[in-house]
Amino acid sequence: MAGILTISLDFELILGKLDKPGWQRFETVCETERRVVFDGLMSLFSEFDVSATWCTVGHLFLDQCRRQTGSPSSSHHSHAGPCFPLDPCSNEQTAPLYYGKDLIDRLIACPTPQEIGCHTYSHVMYGDPKCTEAIAERETAKCVQLAEERGLKLRSFVFPRNRVGHLPVLARHGFAVYRGPSPRWFDQPETPRLLRKIGHLADIFTARTPPAVEATPSVDGLVNLPASMLFTPAFGMRRFVPVWLRVLRARRGLREAVKQGKVFHLWFHPTDLAVRPEAMLQGLRQVLETADELRRAGELAILPMGAFAPLESPALVQSRYLPARAVEAW
Ligand SMILES: [Zn+2]
Repeated sequence: MAGILTISLDFELILGKLDKPGWQRFETVCETERRVVFDGLMSLFSEFDVSATWCTVGHLFLDQCRRQTGSPSSSHHSHAGPCFPLDPCSNEQTAPLYYGKDLIDRLIACPTPQEIGCHTYSHVMYGDPKCTEAIAERETAKCVQLAEERGLKLRSFVFPRNRVGHLPVLARHGFAVYRGPSPRWFDQPETPRLLRKIGHLADIFTARTPPAVEATPSVDGLVNLPASMLFTPAFGMRRFVPVWLRVLRARRGLREAVKQGKVFHLWFHPTDLAVRPEAMLQGLRQVLETADELRRAGELAILPMGAFAPLESPALVQSRYLPARAVEAW
């Protein structure tokens, strides 16, 4: 029984940061994400034949917007009002941090098929009690509509800040798979923020083996593919975490998944690699080298989240995402 590596990305540029105090300091990081990290990831995924899942904020499907149509949400979050704190249309310099149509084009054209999934339309936390079903409905519908205009059928969903909510809305819109929180004790919704941080740091600095996970049926026919490990961001306090610790943990996660015949679900934001991008991309390369060795030995398949959709036959998955040998291993 082979293990599986799944890589999912929360793809949002600046749109995932607008509700944080001092979000402006992320502008430079997001510029590097756009200019350096995106290219780096595309070449790594092509070189190593990795179909990753890019759960994308719907606003990135656009190349422009107007204030009235910028967001379909009501103002339950500072950034989800009629538009964003800065009107992206009126500032040429920062506009590329709000729009990603050119990047979506490149994901679609990637020689190794990349799966595009959903991360809401404007980065609304569905698990927040202030997010009503109506808001979740509008956010989901808008993202699905923009994807359909590009000929994309979205199957996979990642919740902003991993706060799960409004699953029936996702099912109604044809989603099949979502990324739930990791099974680690500190990642449970009820864990206080401070304990959560301490738990994460302890795992990082002891290089604790990330859990191997399994796709499990959830409500309304959805499948939950929990996270195993966040490829630790390189900004804030976590910039002091050496890259090799991330590599060590990820390699342990891969081997654990192989040992148990389960999934190592690695996730991150491209932004997370945008401080010291060369070193961070090099770290990810080392992880993919190990994954590739295991795959060559017939012990690992690399599959996107959408491959866990219950209605997908391996043949359909193959035609949509995968080189033949990955499906054989699966
Ligand atoms: Zn996000």
